[in-house]
This record gives sequence, C-alpha cells and structure tokens, in this order.
Amino acid sequence: MRRGTNSLEVKRLNRNRVFRYINDRSETSMPDISAALDISGPTVLTIVKELKDAGVVEEVGELQSTGGRKAKAIAAVKDVRYAVGMDITANHVGMVYTNLERKVGAHERIRRTFSCTDTYFQEIGEILEEFIEKNQVPGKKIEGVGISLPGIVDRQENLLTQSHILRLENISREKWARYIPYPCELLNDANAAALAEDECCKKPESNMVYLSLSNSVGGSVILADEMKSNNGIRSDEDGGAMYMGNNWRSGEFGHMVIHPGGRDCYCGKKGCLDAYCSALSLSRLEDGDLRAFFGKLESGHEEYRKIWEEYLDNLAIVIDNLRMCFDCEVVLGGYVGNYMDPYIERLRAVVAGRNIFGGDGEYVRVCRCREEASAYGAALYQIERYISKI
Ligand SMILES: [Zn+2]
Repeated sequence: MRRGTNSLEVKRLNRNRVFRYINDRSETSMPDISAALDISGPTVLTIVKELKDAGVVEEVGELQSTGGRKAKAIAAVKDVRYAVGMDITANHVGMVYTNLERKVGAHERIRRTFSCTDTYFQEIGEILEEFIEKNQVPGKKIEGVGISLPGIVDRQENLLTQSHILRLENISREKWARYIPYPCELLNDANAAALAEDECCKKPESNMVYLSLSNSVGGSVILADEMKSNNGIRSDEDGGAMYMGNNWRSGEFGHMVIHPGGRDCYCGKKGCLDAYCSALSLSRLEDGDLRAFFGKLESGHEEYRKIWEEYLDNLAIVIDNLRMCFDCEVVLGGYVGNYMDPYIERLRAVVAGRNIFGGDGEYVRVCRCREEASAYGAALYQIERYISKI
C-alpha cells in the first residue's frame, strides 16, 4: 500500500476488493469473504450492506452448510451495467457487448470502409445503435463504449494521435463519439486485444507480452498484478494493467527492425517486422483473403509453404527479442494468430534454437481469445472503469 494512504482510502480499497471478490464468483458468503480477504466479519457485513444499498450486490438464497446456521448466499448483480466495444479498422467495424460478468454477450462484424467524414461517424453511430437494439442491451445501463483504433492513442487526452492505416493524425474522442450517446473511451487495438486475452486466461501472477499480427503488427505489455501497484511503473490510471510508455507508444513491436536495409515499411524505415509479418504480407497473395492463403498452405501449396517458413523464421527473431526484453510469456494474436495453432510447435522449435537460456520455446503460445478480441477488450475496459469506481 502506498505511503500516506488514509483511512478513507483504505475503506474504499477494501470495499473494492470485496466487490471484486464477489463479482469473480457466481455466489459466495460473508464468512468466505472475511476468510479469503482477511477482513473482519463486522467490516465485511458493513461493506456488503453498502454494496447492497448501491444495488450492485444481492442476496440469492442460502449456501449449503455442513452444520450450524446456513450462510446467506450473495452475488454481484451482473446486469447492473453493460458496456459495448467497437473495433474500427480500415474496412470493418467489429462490436461486442458485455456486462459485469465480463463474458462476450454477442459479437458482430460489419464491412464498412473508413473515411474521415461526418457521414462515416454518423454511420458508426447508427451501426452501434442497431447492435444495441438487436441484442436488447438496456441503453440506460450502458456504462460506456470503448472504441478500439489501429493507431497510437493518448489515453490521457483520449486522442488518436497517429494512425498510418487510417491515414489520420490527431482525431479527438469528440469526433469519434459525435453520434454515440454514451461515454466513450479510445484505445489502441492491440492494447484492447491484450486486455481481452488477459481476461480469457487470467494468470494474475504472470506478465505477458501480446503480439498482434493483424494488417499491421502491434503489441502490448500486460503486467502481473504485483507490478500493477508498483508506483515506479507508469500504467494506465484506469485500467492499471498495462505498460504504456512515456508517450503511449509502448508495444509498437511492428517497427522493430529485424533486417537492416530490408523491405520498405509503411513507416518509412526499412526492414521492420511489419514489412515481413503483417497479415497483409500473406493475404495480399490471395487478394486480401487470409483464409484462402492458409487453405492453400494446408493443401500443400509449395510456394506458400516457403513463404510461410520464412514468415515463421522472421517471427521467431522478434519473439526471441521480446523474450530477452521481458522474460515472460509471448502470446500471438491478431488475424494471423487465429491460424497459428497447427504451426505453433514448429515455431517453438525455431524459437528454442535461438534462446540462449535454453528451454523448448514453451513460453510462446497462441491467443485464446479469438472472436473480436479488440472490440471485446475495449468493452472490458469500460467495465473495469466502472468496477474500479465501486
Ligand atoms: Zn516500420
């Protein structure tokens, strides 16, 4: 706990811990909470009463008991708040909604070509409203919309400072949210996807590097719980789980140079990872159809096999570099990550050959969160903001 934390702050932190404990389970009891969090029975009683009064916790019957008085079962009111995530890409809009349960309620992906025009912003407002209506998400309970964008996002200013893919600079939240009648937050797409991955396979004690292999290559560094409270590391004030850097540009792994003087990258440099391992580098061979590329690869297309081997070799260079920097699990996500399962052992073998500390490359794995990870993560971000205020 930080120095100078006063008793009000302790009360707030305890209340928040109790709520999270309840919310992470389908049901629990006050004696369980007291034992698990090491908070006295009377304090838990007071906190639970406050949470019930606030409408975020309810009694849901009695727990089975092995003797003595039955404890009251309590649970979080999962549908007290909802959030929607929207993933904006050059050609699509992806959407996911969730609530305090943090599961994907529904997801959808619509083809819509981005243009920085009022018509487009109006359109995404309408698409969002249709999605909300179709899935009967109660509008009054929507905490907010997380908007995931392929570019650098200044979280403090809620500003997309730069996006090569969308060919934009300095587009504010107000512009994105002009036709969205809910509070909006802007997030980088790889950061959002990493939040979703963190949710899908929570390992609170472990750090994680997420490498997003989509039409551009991005990434994110997720900190283990113990690191999140370390004041020496700047993390996102609201989410608190991610290393953001001094200028919100951390995790731009796509522009690490793997071949000096190599292929041209859209950023202006030569030899960036992005020029070798973006999904586009594969899908452009099939007119933008990545599925077709992998289909032909699996049916034994000789030229594609060579291209793919080269792809894995290049990827292994960066995976090894990331391991050297961060000494943690490296998770492969994004469009290509979704096709990586059959090839992960091959990749691990290449990676193992590079690792000076030995091992079999087991620290590399394929993402588990597959459907609309960025939109889902953006929705989770809004839910986390809500929970952090409880
Ligand atoms: Zn580059």
